[in-house]
This record gives sequence, C-alpha cells and structure tokens, in this order.
Amino acid sequence: EGNAFHSFVILGASGDLAKKKTYPTVWWLFRDGLLPNNIVFVGYARSNLTIEELKERVRPYMKVQPNEEQTYAEFWRLNHYICGTYTGRTDFEMLNQKLSSLEPVAGANRIYYLALPPSVFESVTTNLRNTCMSLKGWTRIIIEKPFGRDSETSLRLSDHLSSLFKEEQLYRIDHYLGKEMVQNLMVLRFGNGIFSPTWNRLFIASIQITFKEPFGTEGRGGYFDEFGIIRDVMQNHLVQILTLVAMEKPPSIHPDDIRNEKVKVLKCIKPVAIDDVVLGQYVGNPDGEGEAKIGYLDDPTVPKGSTTPTYCTAILKIDNERWEGVPFILRCGKALNERKAEIRIQYNEVPGDIFGGQCKRNELVIRVQPGEAVYVKMMTKTPGMSFDMEETELDLTYGSRYKNVKLPDAYERLILDVFCGSQMHFVRSDELAEAWRIFTPLLHQLEGGSIRPIPYIYGSRGPNEGDEMTKKANFKYYGSYKWVEPTK
Ligand code: NAP
Ligand code: NAP
Repeated sequence: EGNAFHSFVILGASGDLAKKKTYPTVWWLFRDGLLPNNIVFVGYARSNLTIEELKERVRPYMKVQPNEEQTYAEFWRLNHYICGTYTGRTDFEMLNQKLSSLEPVAGANRIYYLALPPSVFESVTTNLRNTCMSLKGWTRIIIEKPFGRDSETSLRLSDHLSSLFKEEQLYRIDHYLGKEMVQNLMVLRFGNGIFSPTWNRLFIASIQITFKEPFGTEGRGGYFDEFGIIRDVMQNHLVQILTLVAMEKPPSIHPDDIRNEKVKVLKCIKPVAIDDVVLGQYVGNPDGEGEAKIGYLDDPTVPKGSTTPTYCTAILKIDNERWEGVPFILRCGKALNERKAEIRIQYNEVPGDIFGGQCKRNELVIRVQPGEAVYVKMMTKTPGMSFDMEETELDLTYGSRYKNVKLPDAYERLILDVFCGSQMHFVRSDELAEAWRIFTPLLHQLEGGSIRPIPYIYGSRGPNEGDEMTKKANFKYYGSYKWVEPTK
C-alpha cells in the first residue's frame, strides 16, 4: 500500500481524548516517519474551531522538541477541521465532500476515530456508513470504551455496528493490548520450553492479575461513578490479560486464531458471584496530605451515599482441563499505595521437601508498568560457607537489559496497527460479549445499591478482606522476600 492515500478523521476533535491521546499519537507516528506519506488529518466536532485554536488546545500534550518544530509545522499543514453535528446527514455529506476534495484519488483509505461520548455512537456510525465510506479503498472505524455497560447494552451496540460494518472494519481499543509486556505474553509462554510444560494446574497454585492506581477521582468522580472499577478496569483490561495468560496455544499467530482461543477460554468461566468478590471504596486519610485527605464520597461530583466500588478483588475459575481448581485472582483499585500493573504466577511447593519447610513458592512476575520487567522469585543457597537457603530472583529488567530501546506508547502501536490492518490487539465482538457475560449478573446485583463496599484508607493496599480472599484462593504471602536493586 506504499503510495495509497489515507484520510484520518477524528470525530470529537474538540474533546478530551482527542487532545490528550489522539492528536499526540498521530503526531508522534508522523514525526517518527511511521505513517503513510500521503495522508491528511481531519478533525470534526460541533465546536466552531479554527485550526489555530485546535492547535493551541492540543499543544500542551504534543511534547514537541525544539528541533522538531519544522516537522511539527508540516504535520499541521496536513490538518483540517470542519464543524458539524453528529446527527445531521447533510453534515456528514459535507464531511464526505471535504474528504473527497482532499483526496487526490477515489481509492483513498479512510480511518474514522470516534473520540466521542457513547450517546452519539449510533447516529455517527449510521451517518458514516450512509455518506462517508471510501469508494474504492478500505474504511476502518476505531472505537473506545465504554462498549456498553452490561451484556444487553453491549450486544445492542455490537448488533448496531455489525449491521453497518464488517468485523474487519471495527477496531475496538483496549489500550492494555498495546502494552509491551502484554504483547510479550505470547512469546514468554509459547516461545520458552521451560514455561510451556508447567503452565497448568499441576504446577501452578494461583495467578494474580493486578492493577493499582495511587490517586482517587480528583474531583471528577461523577463520570467514574456511573461505571465503577469493575467496568472501568476489570471487565476489560484485566480480563484481556487473563485471556492471554490462560488461553491454549493458537494454531498460528494470525489475529483470528488468537482471538478464537481468547473466546474459548472465556467460555469456560462462570459468571462471578457476590461471594467471589471483595468490594471497597476509599475514604480520606486524616493524616494524609492534600488529595489523600479526600475520600470518594467527599468528591462533590459523586452522588451522595454512592455504593460504587473503587476497589475490587475477584476470584475467577476456568473450568477446563488446563486450569480446573486454579484461582485467577483479579485485583484493581484506585487511591492505593502505588501505581502498578502486573501478572503474578505462583507455583506450587516442591513436592518431597528435604529442607525442613524452608522453601518458598516460586513466582513468575511480569510487570506491565511501571518499569517493565520479568522476574522469577526462586530459592538459592546463601552464598558463602553456610548451607542455608534464601529467596532471590532471576531478573530481566528492561531498563537495564535494553538500555537504549524506547518502548512506544500503547496508543502508538495500536493506531499503527489500524493502518496496517492488523486486528491482533483489538477486541472482537464475541470476546466482548463473553467478558460482559461474566460480570453482568454481579453488576446488576450491585446496581440495587444495597451492597456497601468496605471502606479502605486512601494510600493503603486496600481492605484487609482482599488479602484474606487471596489467601483463601491459594496465594501465599510470606513477607520475607527482600529485593535488592542491582547497583548500576
Ligand atoms: P468528551 O471530551 O466529553 O467529548 C468529546 C467531544 O464530543 C466533545 O468535545 C464534544 O464536542 C462532543 N460532546 C460531548 N458531549 C456531548 C454530548 N452530550 N452530545 C454530543 N456531543 C458531545 O469525551 P472524551 O473524554 O474525549 O471521550 C471520548 C470517548 O473516549 C468516550 O467514549 C470516553 O469514554 C472514551 N475514553 C476517554 C478517555 C479520556 O482520557 N478522555 C480515555 C478512554 C476512553 P463538540 O461539542 O465540539 O461537538
Ligand atoms: P512481595 O513484596 O513479596 O509481594 C508479593 C505479593 O504479595 C504482591 O502481590 C503483594 O500485593 C502481596 N502482598 C504484600 N503485602 C501483603 C500482605 N500483607 N498480605 C498479603 N499479600 C501481600 O514481592 P514483589 O512485589 O514481587 O517484590 C518486592 C519489590 O521488589 C517490588 O516493589 C518489586 O517491584 C521489586 N522488584 C523489582 C524487580 C525488578 O525491577 N526487576 C525484581 C524483583 C523485585 P500488592 O501487589 O498489593 O502489594
């Protein structure tokens, strides 16, 4: 497709996502010479903006270096903006005319990025289908979560989209699928003879998938409150990681072979019940500083007495031959003690112990962020004369092993994938439906508001009940492991 012409259209160009993510991402891809040569960018929204105003709005997020000003100016010369409604067909006919006037050939490829609230998804996609499809090239649609709020609403959206577009045209973003370590899971699992044979119930005691954020809603809880942590993080990001950790080996690395396996593993998971979860909601820490003093319910945008969870630990079981009996512990929360996303695979004790019970379980830890790393916690003889033993680690820390490699931002990879037509790291409709099936009964039960989440203090590790649940789910915490950062 070397010389094909491309139009990249950002709908909702005046909005928050557009300025913080979409424009910066396409600029970085452009700057690094990764986009096709023949391209235009067209912003569309109701706000009456000039290109200059748009440019000013996004500038703080573009991270332009002094030596890049010329390329940056070139980027903006390729940018256009038009304003129109999300409901009027004639406005989209106008958009189409604008695109046709910019495209030197009728065969231009078109990408539509929907940086819009879900309330206008349906009318916008209908209008795009009716008026804005490329005549001879391809047309691809990028959409962002929320993909519905339960099985029913998600299915309605999927049905609507599939009445207009083919699955190959739909790119549902889950930006966790763009992260280096999440993409690395396939290689770690299926490219290493030491891991594949032990990746099952015979060797693995439990698996934890964790997402922790050190800040609360920061006065913008009104939006969060409609969703809660399960919809915001667990049902999408954590479940996506779970599928990549647990799926069978696909017949090839073709995107649909992989997505078939992801769906299969989800089909083996029963809906999560209320007894399988610990729910929490943060409260202010009277001894904390600034934001830390402010609890979730103190946020003026959060409805009074809200029972929306800001923390959740859930135990999922995969009823198949590989995983029966192995708890998958999903944990996520806001206002916790640190920022971290990781996968922790805890192995069983060594059978036939000859060391008087001193051995600790091995753990394989894949840290997604911050500071990408893979490490295996293991036992070693205490170096020196003694014949004692101690915990240590085999450590692959990307920052030291790959010093000069710059890892691209998740969005950069994903948007580039859309240009290339690679759907490997995008969520297919049937995957999405399965993920909602697992959480919808619980979410409906919580909507009644009769189940109060457990309060936990801003900056803590979450409610103790979370640790109790992981303990019951066959995760052993010894509290004895000490990591010594290698001297550089
Ligand atoms: P936004 O700023 O609220 O909305 C984007 C644009 O849509 C606005 O500039 C506005 O443009 C138009 N708009 C807003 N409310 C509207 C309404 N009620 N009716 C019609 N048009 C309306 O939203 P966003 O934060 O960019 O998010 C866009 C989508 O991405 C959402 O689905 C969101 O859930 C998702 N998302 C956002 C982020 C993020 O970091 N912000 C992260 C992940 C996913 P005009 O008034 O100029 O038309
Ligand atoms: P750890 O401190 O033994 O923690 C292991 C797990 O136990 C975590 O999932 C932790 O949960 C949980 N835990 C902590 N306190 C608990 C408690 N009171 N009750 C029940 N569970 C508890 O081992 P680690 O986290 O693997 O390593 C320790 C530190 O060394 C980390 O900061 C790690 O990043 C660092 N390290 C770095 C590298 C590297 O950069 N390559 C390599 C090895 C270790 P939470 O997630 O909720 O805390």
